[in-house]
Amino acid sequence: MECDACTGKKFLAVKSCLTCMASFCQTHLQPHFQIAAWKDHKLTDPDGHLQEKLCATHQKSLEIFCKTDETCICLVCVVTGHKGHEMVELESERREKQKQLGTTLSEIRRRLEKRENTLKETRRALEQIKISAERQVQEHEKNFTDLIRCIQKTRRKLTERIREHENREREKAKVVMERLEKEIEELKRRNAELKELSETKDNVHFLQTFSSCCVLPADGDSTSFTVTADFSFEDLRKKVSSLKKNLEKMSQWDILTCTPPGLYPLLKSINRIRETIRGNCEVRAKKWDFYV
Ligand SMILES: [Zn+2]
Ligand SMILES: [Zn+2]
Ligand SMILES: [Zn+2]
Ligand SMILES: [Zn+2]
Repeated sequence: MECDACTGKKFLAVKSCLTCMASFCQTHLQPHFQIAAWKDHKLTDPDGHLQEKLCATHQKSLEIFCKTDETCICLVCVVTGHKGHEMVELESERREKQKQLGTTLSEIRRRLEKRENTLKETRRALEQIKISAERQVQEHEKNFTDLIRCIQKTRRKLTERIREHENREREKAKVVMERLEKEIEELKRRNAELKELSETKDNVHFLQTFSSCCVLPADGDSTSFTVTADFSFEDLRKKVSSLKKNLEKMSQWDILTCTPPGLYPLLKSINRIRETIRGNCEVRAKKWDFYV
């Protein structure tokens, strides 16, 4: 704010006069203290809105507040257009409105604090969600890796057991077949000998050879071969199929329900399958002890 009275270099205003409707520097303000007629001029801190403080109708300074019209009026307005209106001094109205402003300010502070707290809580909740999601992903990743490894191991083991069984059966059949071939050869040889003997005319030779050639060894059961083909993992097959069903169910859970079937029961059923394989294997071993 510059002094309105300075000519040439303008000094900063120290006061504004609402009566003169001008702002003055220290030097140009002096007459207000010296001239008696100016003693009741209304001085304020330097003010750039002096025009706003003038009544638009009477060009007088606004000094009264009409509560009825909620507006600032000049002293001429007071006696002309506001009969019966409730009027107060600007300072008193200002004090009242200042109180209202204080209330509004503290309400703003309260809302700010509340919103800021809510924001903080939301951030914290978000962080928690992130951490929890991370933990769950890792847990499921690990469980699925275990599950897949478990399935692969079980599959390898199962194939191994079936091949082992095939080999044992083959070995067993080979022994029986060799024995049968030997006996067939022996029987053919005996058959030829006896045929020749039956045709000989030499009675002595016939009688002397007969007992050694014609008495056959007991027809034993040693050559029978029982195929233990019933190497059925019926129990195991059921368990694998139920595991498959569970896995399929799990892959569709997000459409059907909100709670996924846990991985734990699946791992458990895989373990049951492994135990079954081990069990079957022991039973097989016992059967073979009996055969050999
Ligand atoms: Zn001046
Ligand atoms: Zn003045
Ligand atoms: Zn007026
Ligand atoms: Zn009024």
